[in-house]
This record gives sequence, structure tokens and C-alpha cells, in this order.
Amino acid sequence: MLLKNDQLDQWDRENFFHPSTHLAQHARGESANRIVTGGSGVYIEDRDGNRLLDAFAGLYCVNVGYGRTEIADAIAEQAKELAYYHAYVGHGTEASITLSKMILDRAPDCMSKVYFGLGGSDANETNVKLIWYYNNILGRPEKKKIISRWRGYHGSGLMTGSLTGLELFHKKFDLPFAQVLHTEAPYYYRRPKAEMSEEQFTAHCVAELEALIEREGADTIAAFIGEPVLGTGGIVPPPAGYWQEIQNVLKKHDILLVADEVVTGFGRLGSMFGSLHYDIEPDLITIAKGLTSAYAPLSGSIVGKKMWEVLEKGTDENGPIGHGWTYSAHPIGAAAGIANLKLVDSLDLVKNSAETGNYFVQAMKDAVGEHAHVGDVRGEGMLCAVEFAKDKHARSFFDASEKIGPQMAAALLENGVIGRAMPQGDILGFAPPLCLTREEADKVVDATAKAVKKVFG
Ligand code: PLP
Repeated sequence: MLLKNDQLDQWDRENFFHPSTHLAQHARGESANRIVTGGSGVYIEDRDGNRLLDAFAGLYCVNVGYGRTEIADAIAEQAKELAYYHAYVGHGTEASITLSKMILDRAPDCMSKVYFGLGGSDANETNVKLIWYYNNILGRPEKKKIISRWRGYHGSGLMTGSLTGLELFHKKFDLPFAQVLHTEAPYYYRRPKAEMSEEQFTAHCVAELEALIEREGADTIAAFIGEPVLGTGGIVPPPAGYWQEIQNVLKKHDILLVADEVVTGFGRLGSMFGSLHYDIEPDLITIAKGLTSAYAPLSGSIVGKKMWEVLEKGTDENGPIGHGWTYSAHPIGAAAGIANLKLVDSLDLVKNSAETGNYFVQAMKDAVGEHAHVGDVRGEGMLCAVEFAKDKHARSFFDASEKIGPQMAAALLENGVIGRAMPQGDILGFAPPLCLTREEADKVVDATAKAVKKVFG
């Protein structure tokens, strides 16, 4: 059997281009690889016989946990009945039509239709195209720039890599594109002055946004994109009042709002959507990951009523919309999505995300919050981060060469738990499957406490 193939490691080094990987070290065999063979609940197994508690749910996506045969069966049935038909010029399948209804039944009332893609990056590419189309139809060809936040993550395509506000995704790729502007991250722990309250920091973020709009001119700015809780940029819930105040500014300047809910959609914050959690009324919502719990690739752009009217007008004036992928609304992805959302409901995972998530974050605070090098423990729903600081009171950074995040993640692994060293900072992130139990949460907390002890002594 292939898994027993003792050449697999060599083939991996010789043939496989891994994303987000140090290519040279991997090819030379200097960095570890892991060949994953199975999974059940919150655990994965590899071919060396390790069983690891995956406290990052893959890439915050396996929300219902591993090994759910309900979804596997739905995929198999769909594949046997009809593996593929396209969705162009009015074609659909029972799965794609049903799933779009299920999504809209769960989404904020201001939303109208779902366009399906394959991953979060392509869904955000779709969003930008729809935003540009919208303003062209409204006769405002100059209103095209998109504001994103530093430390935001919106994908790694050309436009979406530009929207992403992390250096690694720009450096040596000639990004970001000129149409993208970045503004202050709503990152309270990294506020410019220690004495600022959350409200004062929100006012600071809003003032920065206002100043940017003023500098560029509101008639050149089409949209603002943000994750309800910053994800890859450090797992950072927003400061008090942030979304309310930001929305007021956007409304005043007629700037569209994209809520990138690729991580927060379908329960991760303990609410069905981050937009519902924070009272956000977006014009577009990006969804992926938790839509199928990654059992099959599927993403979506949920289009708000206000934009939809203009899109319809656009096609009345210009003919069919010039946008679509071969795999838009792929029936296998849609079947996985339906089975997944049914499981989210039947297992009451949104509630568990709120309750066990709350327990988890509190237990993490209790276990490591007082440590001299733990600057911040934060979270919302089933998201949690521990941020380390050289001097906790000065909130000072460790030298990057110390690689505190990766050291922590490695020490955690020794205790059988997968966490993630977040980029650009000394941050250990957690985003477990939403089915995490309190006992499993205790295990993650215990392993973290041991890792902190190991790294700092
Ligand atoms: N948006 C957010 C908020 C994400 O976290 C991600 C991926 O982590 C993406 C977009 C990009 O999604 P994908 O990796 O499926 O292209």
C-alpha cells in the first residue's frame, strides 16, 4: 500500500511543492515533514504512529472534527449520482441550490444571494471584481480603491495577497497592488500608548481611517475589508465599539463593507456569523473553511441586497455577468456543505463554540496569564491566542531570531498538541474544532503551560 511505501519521504522532498514552506530546507531534508494518515474527532494520526490533538483544526477549518462519516457519505452519494455539472447560464444541482438557501437562512437579513467559489482567496477575488463592477454600473469609475487593515489576512492571490496586510505575503512578490490601501490594525495589545482605554484605541483606529479617506478622497475609495476578529494576523478580537464606529465612517463616505468571515463564519465565534456577533451589516460576506469543514473545497461570496440590485441592473444593461469558474458551485462541495451545516446544527456546535470556547480561553488565562513573559491571553468563541513579550510591562518584542512562536509550537507538539506560531510576532494561536470538549481543552491548556515552562525555564 502507498502509505507503507518507504520512498514516500524521498518522493515528497523531490516532487512536492508545499505551500507556506521553506522550500530549500524541505528539499534538502533539513526540516521536518509529516505524512498525515487519518483523523477522528479533534485528533489526527500520522504514519509514524503519532496521535496529535489538533488545536488548530487544520487551518481553522475542520470545524466539525475529523472522521465524520455523515459528510463522507454525502460526498460519495453525490459523486455517484452526479459528480459534476457546471452552474453557468442558469444551471444548478439540488445540492448547490439547497446550500445557497441554507446559507442565506443563517446569514444576516441584509444579504441576498450566494456566489460559490473554491477557497477563501478566490472568493475575495470575486468580491473585488463585484465591487468594481458595482461602481462602474453606478457611473463612478474613479471609486475603486480598497482599504484593508495591517495584519489582515484575505488570501494569497494577486489582489487578495495585496489585501493581506502581512509582509511575508508581499515581499519579493511585487505586492501590494496600488489599488489597495492599508490602515491601522484593531490590535489593542499593540496600542500606541499603554494608558489608552479600549474606547480610546477604537477612536484612534477610526481617526486613522478618517485621515486615510481624507488623504485619498472618498470618491476614490470603493470598499473596506476586514475579518470580524483578526485571524492569521494574531487572533485579535476588536476593541470595544470598533465595528460600530467603523461602520459609521463607511456609511458616511458611501464605502462598501466586506466582512471576511472565512474563519469566523458558521460558528467559530460562538455565533453563526461574526457579523451577527458584532452587529455588522456587510455588503459582502466571504465564506469558506467552516462552510464544509474542509471536507471538500468550497467558498462563497454572499452578496448583500444593496449590491445585488445594482448587479441585476448591470446585466440588464450589459448582458450576462462576465465572471465564473468551471468549478463554481461544484456539486460535491455543495453536498459536503449541506451535510456539514446539518451536523453543525445537530451537534449544537455554535453553542459549544461559545461555551467551551469561553471555558478554554479562561483556563488558558488562569494557567499562563501571570507568567513573566506572557503579555496577553485573548480569545473569542473557539479562538485563543497567547502573546509573549520580552518585558511584559513594556510589551517589548523578543528578537525575531529567538523564534519564540515556533519554539512554543514545537514544545507543544512534544506534548501531543498542535498549535500554530502566528506570523509577525511571538504569538501562539489556537482554533480547535468546534466540537472540543472541556477535557480536551484542559489537555491543550496543560500542554501550553508545559511548553511555556520548557521555553522560558
Ligand atoms: N480570508 C481569511 C480570513 C482567511 O483566514 C483565509 C485563509 O486562511 C483566506 C481568506 C484565504 O482562504 P484560502 O486559503 O482558502 O484561499
